[in-house]
Amino acid sequence: MFLDGKRALVTGSTSGIGLAMARSLRAEGAEVVLNGFGEEGEIAALCDELGATHSGVNLLDPDEIEAMMERAGPLDILVNNAGMQFVSPVEDFPADKWDAIIALNLTAAFHTTRLAVPGMKERGWGRIINTASAHSLTASPFKSAYNASKHGIAGFTKTIALELAQTGVTANCISPGYVWTPLIEGQIPDTMKARGLSREEVINDVLLAKQPTKKFVQPEEIGALAVFLCREEAGNVTGANWSIDGGWTAE
Ligand code: NAD
Repeated sequence: MFLDGKRALVTGSTSGIGLAMARSLRAEGAEVVLNGFGEEGEIAALCDELGATHSGVNLLDPDEIEAMMERAGPLDILVNNAGMQFVSPVEDFPADKWDAIIALNLTAAFHTTRLAVPGMKERGWGRIINTASAHSLTASPFKSAYNASKHGIAGFTKTIALELAQTGVTANCISPGYVWTPLIEGQIPDTMKARGLSREEVINDVLLAKQPTKKFVQPEEIGALAVFLCREEAGNVTGANWSIDGGWTAE
């Protein structure tokens, strides 16, 4: 398998998109380090399934990130995926939610990246994959912190791609449209409130309305894209922002 002997850390991989990416990388032979919260038994079962280790650190804390990176050992593949959402009009947006979203969706990726890059450069190979979002390219109302963080991670990714262009290390974003995960489910009640809509109206008239295919993106499709970005043939693919959004940002 082409990722035999490669070591990957996927942040936020106890659930949703990160878990799908961890499974896809593992299926190609990578050794996987999981990160994220969850019930102890479920995480132990995931570690068994994937032959993985797990780091349950809170990525809001830079010291915890440093400890995780030290324990993870030399990484060939870094997937910055953990993220959170909060939906509110800007004038009511709680400042602590703003800070947490920027810290998790953007600043945590800066810390993992700055700590992973020296080893990748030394070994002359690396893949940095950041889960951005369609909201890195376009915006929706009531998601000010999320949209700012995702536009931010897209800019960060381009910058490190340029810095690392001659080192064998690539950096790319994957930008999904709506994927049915706990993150999306969790924002439905607040979106109902912010827009005065029913649950069905939020799903069909707010979420799927954005996607010309009228389908949610599947987590496995994102896993497959992450695997492609790790291939040797993707060595010249860097600094790109890969939409996988059912045509949303084509409009
Ligand atoms: P999810 O809620 O299913 O998973 C989030 C993961 O992050 C979980 O493993 C959770 O435990 C972990 N996590 C949350 N806070 C953390 C913290 N402080 N420290 C460490 N881990 C933490 O969400 P998802 O939908 O799979 O989202 C994953 C990424 O994909 C996010 O960056 C999200 O913004 C992005 N995204 C999701 C969608 C979507 O429609 N679901 C669309 C575009 C982008």
